[in-house]
Amino acid sequence: MSYTFANFVVGSSNQFAHAAALAVANLPGRAYNPLFLYGGVGLGKTHLLQAIGSHITQGGPSRRVTYLPAEGFVHELVSALQHDRMESFRSQYRQADALIVDDVQFLAGKDRSQEEFFHTFNALYEAGKQIVLASDKPPQEITPLQERLRSRFACGVIADMQSPDLETRVAILHRKAEERGLLLPTPAAMLVATHMSANVRELEGCLARLGAYASLHARSISVELAEAVLQQVLAERERAVTAPRIQQTVAQHFGVKTSDLRSKKRQRTIAFPRQVAMFLCRELTNASLPEIGRHFGGKDHTTVLHACRKIAGLEEADEQIARILWQLRQALGG
Ligand code: ADP
Ligand code: MG
Repeated sequence: MSYTFANFVVGSSNQFAHAAALAVANLPGRAYNPLFLYGGVGLGKTHLLQAIGSHITQGGPSRRVTYLPAEGFVHELVSALQHDRMESFRSQYRQADALIVDDVQFLAGKDRSQEEFFHTFNALYEAGKQIVLASDKPPQEITPLQERLRSRFACGVIADMQSPDLETRVAILHRKAEERGLLLPTPAAMLVATHMSANVRELEGCLARLGAYASLHARSISVELAEAVLQQVLAERERAVTAPRIQQTVAQHFGVKTSDLRSKKRQRTIAFPRQVAMFLCRELTNASLPEIGRHFGGKDHTTVLHACRKIAGLEEADEQIARILWQLRQALGG
């Protein structure tokens, strides 16, 4: 299924992002530049980026749209550096009429990529070409990121995407059911939408299971069927990795109390497990640095960042620490 404006459901949670995306698609380079979309996982960022891309392409056969995840940019850069192909790497990106880069938070901490992206950005921007970016965090929370790149990210329009409200979730379910050719009675849609409130990907996952269940048992989708599927999904969610679970697992491993991890105590026997737990929260959950800080008794996001860097460095340098991290990830089902 392709991602277009036509199959994007608009609600108050994404209204502004949708309007900005549509404006950019209709007037590339002349409406908002750059457009920066951010929001949690599964809220429709990639959907809107792809909708913009295909809309611009449809505007004329000569229109060149480059769409890629930031990870792809980094990989191509590494390979261009290796094979001495920087010239063609640069010209390839600079020929685009629109450059659409998804998940730019991936550039955090990658200095060489940031440098190259900064120059690509400037070349296109100065030529009046459209740039669209998406990230799971706003520019000021992407760390570490060079200030000059951060200010480029923020110099156009920033639109956030929130979790959709109940009515929008029900509307999305109906739309997706229609696309899949599933008959979804409204009471079943309401039940699913009530329990799956965080993001749209979850809703879709639930719907896919409903469809599979129904066809497997040669039944139509009903409230009873939805209840059965939801029970399964919610039980799986119980086992998901959360900050409190990480704290519990780490505290147990090091023989400290979970309350110590959230305390201000500075002795090494506590500070170190705390840093490990922060690092794993960063790696295994979607929480932002400030959110992680709040899970640890209101620590500052720079404290969290420092912990993440330190443990990442130790994992590379110290085999014993690498082994501990491996064991903890195993214990957390990673
Ligand atoms: P993100 O990039 O923000 O993590 P995606 O764009 O991949 O999220 O969206 C996850 C799924 O949810 C996709 O299948 C997408 O089509 C769907 N989706 C999200 N928001 C909407 C919406 N408003 N209308 C229709 N589908 C949506
Ligand atoms: Mg995405």
